[in-house]
Amino acid sequence: SRKFIVGGNWKCNPKTYKECNELLKAWKKALPNVDRSKVEVVICPPALWLTSFTESFEGLGFGVCAQNCGKTDAGAFTGEWTAANLVDLGLKWTLLGHSERRSLYGETDEDVAEKVGKCQEAGLGVILCIGEKLEEREGGKTDEVNKRQLGACLPKIKDWDKIVIAYEPVWAIGTGKVATPEQAEETQKAIRAYLSQAVSSAVAEKVRIQYGGSVNPENCAELIKQPNIDGFLVGGASLKPSFMDIISAVG
Ligand code: 13P
Repeated sequence: SRKFIVGGNWKCNPKTYKECNELLKAWKKALPNVDRSKVEVVICPPALWLTSFTESFEGLGFGVCAQNCGKTDAGAFTGEWTAANLVDLGLKWTLLGHSERRSLYGETDEDVAEKVGKCQEAGLGVILCIGEKLEEREGGKTDEVNKRQLGACLPKIKDWDKIVIAYEPVWAIGTGKVATPEQAEETQKAIRAYLSQAVSSAVAEKVRIQYGGSVNPENCAELIKQPNIDGFLVGGASLKPSFMDIISAVG
């Protein structure tokens, strides 16, 4: 059985260090007493504060996850950071290929694959984000898009213990329009079937697939019940004290 993994992606939302600290204080008060062998939690703060809250996160039993990393090794790449830099900071995870990186910063499937390769070399865990746009879903292209985005990365992946997949339909991100449990389950089942065919049934069986897109404390319970949903990647609702209610719903 796969251990549930909940990610809180703060994106570039927090305006100040103080604001992050206030949230962490509220979380400490509301921390649910859940069996941590059943649920792993990782938080993705903005890069500038990746290590600012390490003690607080550790106190809550949460890991830290970067939101992105570069596709090169160290060198003259102004504004970038490497997978090895993140490992050196003590991090175990980074997101890669988030739809905002793809759509707003021009990241291609090939860029994401390069980054996955660097993380694998560095031994850094990756939460690999994939998902279709609204017109792609309406055009019946959902599975095709997920296979393309995931397929580009497969040649780079040797250590599947360091990969989590986050299925985030773009039309559900930040829109309040959550996928139905049936839609998420059907799509994630197809992603797992693809891995079984393209990699191996053992990998397909063990890899964790998160759902992301307008998850909140109210809609999470039905999603948790789906057999192919092994976690969540939460945006907006991870900026609130009630994020703890999502963790408690899992445990
Ligand atoms: P929302 O939960 O705000 O829809 O964001 C989802 C997301 O993009 C997490 O990475």
